[in-house]
Amino acid sequence: MLFLNHNLFIPSINAYIDPKYPVDKAIITHAHADHAKPNHKNVLATEDTINIMKIRYGENCAKKFQIIKYGERIYIDGIYITLFPAGHILGSAQVLLEKKDYKILVTGDYKTTLDKTSQKFELVKTNTLVTEATFGLPIFCHPRPIEETKKIINSLKSKPHSNHLIGAYSLGKAQRIISLLRELGYSKQIYIHGSMTKINNYYLSKKINLGKYIQVDKNNINSLKGEIILAPPSALKDIWSRKISNKIIGMASGWMNVKQRAKQKLIELPIIISDHADWNELTKTILDTEAEKVLITHGQEECLKYWCKKNGIDAEALNP
Ligand SMILES: [Zn+2]
Repeated sequence: MLFLNHNLFIPSINAYIDPKYPVDKAIITHAHADHAKPNHKNVLATEDTINIMKIRYGENCAKKFQIIKYGERIYIDGIYITLFPAGHILGSAQVLLEKKDYKILVTGDYKTTLDKTSQKFELVKTNTLVTEATFGLPIFCHPRPIEETKKIINSLKSKPHSNHLIGAYSLGKAQRIISLLRELGYSKQIYIHGSMTKINNYYLSKKINLGKYIQVDKNNINSLKGEIILAPPSALKDIWSRKISNKIIGMASGWMNVKQRAKQKLIELPIIISDHADWNELTKTILDTEAEKVLITHGQEECLKYWCKKNGIDAEALNP
């Protein structure tokens, strides 16, 4: 009998992991909107996650916050809770729950690929693994992020007068793209959509090298020429982006692996960069954690379940 149920609820301490609605006690894996909701009474998370939640939802977005450091083991009514880096975005964490000698690890969103804008993923051994499966199909094999980022630089070289408007989520992906561009030696200012400014400033305060970035505003939007501009995917086709002249539209996402998706969304420059584990990372992590039971959530459950069973590991979808 597990002490964590299928809603990621821990009955004995009345706490949820990443609850979708306001609750009394929430353990939050990271600050993306589908995991971190506002208005909980008590939030337990890493310092970065709490700070980013406050930036996005306001200082009082929960009644009480408790910061827990990576690796710090806290005890609540018979359960030990420890957070470990998930490598997904800044502050992201896996949650390890221990009761007596039994361990349950909830990965949250994670990736094992190196990312200079996030703490490095840490492997944790466990009895039961609750894994995400966003890219849980063998067709998903993410290429090297640095090679994908070169596509932007190369396109800019061949069309130096075109603006390169790249869709990227405001939290995590945008900062990672900027960091990768800097790694490739691109030292010019990078223009960003207004929704990214506060998050960028926070990453900068954590000594993450983003170089010079400028917010796009009504004074500069009409005069941009040959620039790299980052905007959330939702802004690519709206009135805001129509004001940017002579542009090539790109998108940085793991889903750009699916050519049909890029085509549907009229993306001329698909950049395959994901903050989620691909098939190889998912299956390797399952083996490396030595889990005897795997619960699969957030994505493509069936294929991963089949793979686990073929490898002698008990597996089921978390929300069948
Ligand atoms: Zn996420």
